[in-house]
Amino acid sequence: MNFEHSDKVKELIAKLEAFMDAHIYPVERDYYDFVHDHSNLWKEWPKMEALKDKAKAEGLWNLFLPHEYGEFSPGLTNLEYAPLAEIMGRVPWSSQVFNCSAPDTGNMEVLARYGTPEQQKRWLRPLLNGEIRSAYVMTEPQVASSDATNLELTILPDGDDYVLNGRKWWISNARHPRCDLFLVMGKTLPNNPRHSQHSTIIVPRDTPGVKIVRSQTIFGSLNSPGGESELRFENVRVPKANMILGEGRGFEIAQGRLGPGRIHHCMRSIGQAQRALEVMSRRADNRVAFGKKLSDQSSIRQDVARSFCEIEMARLLTLKAADQMDRYGNKVAKDLIAAIKVVAPQMAQTVADRGIQIHGGMGVSDDTPIAYFLTLNRYLRLADGPDEVHMSQLGKQKIREYNAMKARPAESRP
Ligand SMILES: Cc1cc2nc3c(=O)[nH]c(=O)nc-3n(C[C@H](O)[C@H](O)[C@H](O)COP(=O)(O)OP(=O)(O)OC[C@H]3O[C@@H](n4cnc5c(N)ncnc54)[C@H](O)[C@@H]3O)c2cc1C
Repeated sequence: MNFEHSDKVKELIAKLEAFMDAHIYPVERDYYDFVHDHSNLWKEWPKMEALKDKAKAEGLWNLFLPHEYGEFSPGLTNLEYAPLAEIMGRVPWSSQVFNCSAPDTGNMEVLARYGTPEQQKRWLRPLLNGEIRSAYVMTEPQVASSDATNLELTILPDGDDYVLNGRKWWISNARHPRCDLFLVMGKTLPNNPRHSQHSTIIVPRDTPGVKIVRSQTIFGSLNSPGGESELRFENVRVPKANMILGEGRGFEIAQGRLGPGRIHHCMRSIGQAQRALEVMSRRADNRVAFGKKLSDQSSIRQDVARSFCEIEMARLLTLKAADQMDRYGNKVAKDLIAAIKVVAPQMAQTVADRGIQIHGGMGVSDDTPIAYFLTLNRYLRLADGPDEVHMSQLGKQKIREYNAMKARPAESRP
């Protein structure tokens, strides 16, 4: 076991940190002001494209795409990508600058892994080039969508087309001005076994019948420019060639998509927790109450120490999960992926909460990035599957596994 990054990764870390220092941190406030000005609703921040061009020119582009995708990939393993995603996570919107942001990353992986050459040419290429953006369209308002076998939107064959009818909500990016395609999951084969009824199909956003019914808020924020939206699909017709992998293969795709997507979120959460810890430590050392610096108070030191321990634990678990994905594949690594999806956002939410408390009133404002880190990690505990669902599956798996092991005599009296 080696806890050192390779020379290649150390070089990339240095390059990425230099880029963040030169081009991202200085414009963080500018970005914030733009996206929170209601006259700019659903508009892209004007400096985004120039920053993307810079990142691309420096080779800091599509770093997320695992090495197994050959010509499409810059060749990093998940383990190598982890510290880079962590750095990007420190400024959540910055991952778009490097073409490494959700939900595009997961959608690109789906198209790279399962897309036909025509689908790759039409959709994957422009996504990889950062010319367009995308949405993943799964969750529905009328059913508990944490159990995706409940999904009801229909995708039914009709001549040379499929026709889609149904409702969706919480769809990130649907309003983004550059969002051109939706990857939609729905039911095609209702008489099949539960896990082979659903399909995933490509729907261009401007297809007639696709309607954005309303924008949804997260703790009061519209999350412009991508937003979260409720959608209706009313007799939406797309060619049969838009089906990904085949009818009834939607679960296979969702599983393949969500594994890497989940761990990327966790890597970024760790970056947010780390930054919150740094910011709160500086504040504690610069603020005097009752004749003492806050940093001299034992309770504050404990908050900082505990946060450090929890971040280190989550980071090591994330790296272990990434390493297992690289060595044995996403299926074998699924328990560790579930574990980290539960651990990392909860940890980052807790660390951010401590950071808020240390900042006093300022903590709940957007004068520091910490309040946003708290809300972001709070909703991450729902997005890509609620904590309880991951724990339920993980618990079931572990009980099965430990029951298959030999019990030792002193472990229970007959
Ligand atoms: C900010 C945000 C962005 C999102 N982006 C997208 C997106 O881009 N595309 C998309 O398709 N979806 C998206 N979602 C939706 C998200 O994936 C779902 O909200 C999530 O999967 C849960 O589904 P649900 O809301 O239907 O909750 P439900 O399925 O109704 O579950 C509600 C609660 O029930 C509990 N529960 C469920 N199962 C169990 C269990 N087995 N044991 C114990 N308790 C359980 C959990 O506490 C859970 O939170 C997003 C959500 C948010 C908040």
